[in-house]
Amino acid sequence: MSLLITQVQVTIEEMPPNDNYNGYRDYRDWFPYQSFRPHQEEMLDRVQEVACSGEHRVLAIDAPTGSGKTSVIAPLLANRGGNKIVVALRTVSQIGVYLGEIKKIKRETGHSPSVAYLVGKHKMCKLSGEFDNVYAGCDLMKVFTMDVLEAKLNETMRRNNRSAQEYNVYDPETDPEIATEIADESPGYRTFCPYYLHSKEAYTNEGAKNFRPSKQAINDSKAILQEILYPEELRKRCTRTCPYEVMAISAKKADVVILNYNHVFDDAMRDALFDWLEINPENTILLVDEAHNLGDTVRSINSDTITLHVVEKAISEVNQVTGEKNRIVARSAGNILSRISTYMEKTRNRWQGRKQGEDWFDPGMFADFVFAGGGLARDDSQSIADLLKLAQNIKKQKQKSSESAEVFLERVSEFLFMLHLARRDSSYLPVKSMSDDQWLTLAIRSLDPSPVIAGIADTVHATILISGTLSPAAAYELYYFGKNGRVEILSIPNQFPKEKRLVLGAKNATTQSSYRNNPSNQRELELHISALIEGVLGNVAIYFTSYSMMDQYFDHCRRAAQESGKILYTEPKDARDVPDILKRFFESGSSDKKGVLLAVCGGKMSEGIDYYGEALKGAIVVGFPLAAFSEVQKLVNSYYQRKYGRDQGLFIAYTLPAVNKAIQALGRVHRSADETGVLVLCDSRFSRGGGLGVRQYLPQWMQDEMIICDGTWSRELVQGW
Ligand code: SF4
Repeated sequence: MSLLITQVQVTIEEMPPNDNYNGYRDYRDWFPYQSFRPHQEEMLDRVQEVACSGEHRVLAIDAPTGSGKTSVIAPLLANRGGNKIVVALRTVSQIGVYLGEIKKIKRETGHSPSVAYLVGKHKMCKLSGEFDNVYAGCDLMKVFTMDVLEAKLNETMRRNNRSAQEYNVYDPETDPEIATEIADESPGYRTFCPYYLHSKEAYTNEGAKNFRPSKQAINDSKAILQEILYPEELRKRCTRTCPYEVMAISAKKADVVILNYNHVFDDAMRDALFDWLEINPENTILLVDEAHNLGDTVRSINSDTITLHVVEKAISEVNQVTGEKNRIVARSAGNILSRISTYMEKTRNRWQGRKQGEDWFDPGMFADFVFAGGGLARDDSQSIADLLKLAQNIKKQKQKSSESAEVFLERVSEFLFMLHLARRDSSYLPVKSMSDDQWLTLAIRSLDPSPVIAGIADTVHATILISGTLSPAAAYELYYFGKNGRVEILSIPNQFPKEKRLVLGAKNATTQSSYRNNPSNQRELELHISALIEGVLGNVAIYFTSYSMMDQYFDHCRRAAQESGKILYTEPKDARDVPDILKRFFESGSSDKKGVLLAVCGGKMSEGIDYYGEALKGAIVVGFPLAAFSEVQKLVNSYYQRKYGRDQGLFIAYTLPAVNKAIQALGRVHRSADETGVLVLCDSRFSRGGGLGVRQYLPQWMQDEMIICDGTWSRELVQGW
């Protein structure tokens, strides 16, 4: 009988892939729904084909909300072969969507995909409530805990009279005294992390002391691989071990590993993390969620900033350096730091009275000033290398004396390293900026994400980029990969019924600078705004191009809100106040007193928030949300114009982000097929093609459905809808 079972199992496992689908392993068997949405099958077929053939292919899917794009995980799982699927998320909020989809696959199809994730340490850490900064706090706790483990291992060897050359193990699970020591610790004043302690064991190997996952952590990781747990459930499940460590062990065996953008697109972090999780990039299928954010996020990951506060902290670290050898380097580091501080103070004083603003600074002049003590034979690279080495020594000293793991000299040194790059490479832009009339920041901004993104795509087995607003996709391809023809593009039509939306484009109104103060133009803008506030019987959002424009139209919006019996909500300055305002705005949507939200396109409330159901019944983008045409923006534009030519370069650097901000903001209204709403593109540039017009860059459904109207007709259309 057992022989028969074995033979049957072998037969099933060795079955060739279903050749009904050109030799691919048919994902329909992994698809957890009764039927496909329109175009979904076509999308999943393409994903299947790319995942199977590999060859570093890249597929970009532009699929509006409602297309069922999370289901791309099914063909990836069905066809991953020996590859691991790495899902890169921009925000931790998306993790539930993927876990939910994989859970459904497990429940509905009988397959057992395993998943691990390393996102949102603040949600996973058992001690998160005890730290201001969970990452820094955890780093320090781990160092302390390793010291405890090592001391315990030494004690075990001494007690058993054994040498380090022999094999010794200290496993906290078998230590009868450890429970008392843990109980003696006070929250907020711990000398080690009990969960990390139970996740590790220390051992000797040929005289060297090492650490490895404890049996308890391995058992926990095996258990959680059997099921799919949300972060809160995982936290509860790991009663003695660290959920983050347990997840990291699981990740080595999991079919799918969910990470954040930084883990994947920060070169240093990726190398370390992939190594730790035993992920071979060449055997990875990369799925990038919300890919319209990828370029800007990669640029930000590869940029660096310092403030006066950071420099002052670094000076204080250097002043505390001990040891004769270190003192010599510390003296020269102190000189460099104080010159940076002088440069920043002078810049700040020169900018007093200028509340906001940013400008380019010359990296050569900055380096001449900062490294001035080096004389003719100065060697900036060597000075930076010395600073980085000193920063490492300070880090070790801090860890020994139980201070925070953050080393400010390291941040300054890395900034100087980037500045050094910026002297030769125009894709790094040095920028000084001022906020609130007093805070000066020096930044080296990375302008071009394409070397990083293309480099990763050229390494992994295959890459799938998905987004609801990747329009126009060919421009994103150029921005992300530096050339056209590298990416296969699939654009899916909007699946929501067109009867559920009214799309209006302003005929004349514009926020173009030459018309901004023109009274009849202002009147037109106001008419469009009033038409939405007064005509829509529900919550509406008014998205402006800037905070100053929001102030300019504030009184008008308040009057219109009052006349229609609605409550006015305004995007707060402080991001911490957003949840409270959103909560009240959402409640308004289901009450008699509807709400009007004033916010900024590309601000805190126009992207990444799901305004479900009654929360939003209409939105208007007032003006075309171009970035301010500052000196810095001009330099960004020139970089891209040099790279891609005058028109294409300007489009990528300047116009594309504005188009995306507008589409994102209006995309808040329809989050499911049964929702209705009014969308207004209130700038004549949206309504026109050619010249300054951008209509041809909008998603096809928007172009097709847009009714071009003036403010008066806008009111009639909204009221009659
Ligand atoms: S080791 Fe785990 S439980 Fe301990 S502080 Fe770090 S994340 Fe938190």
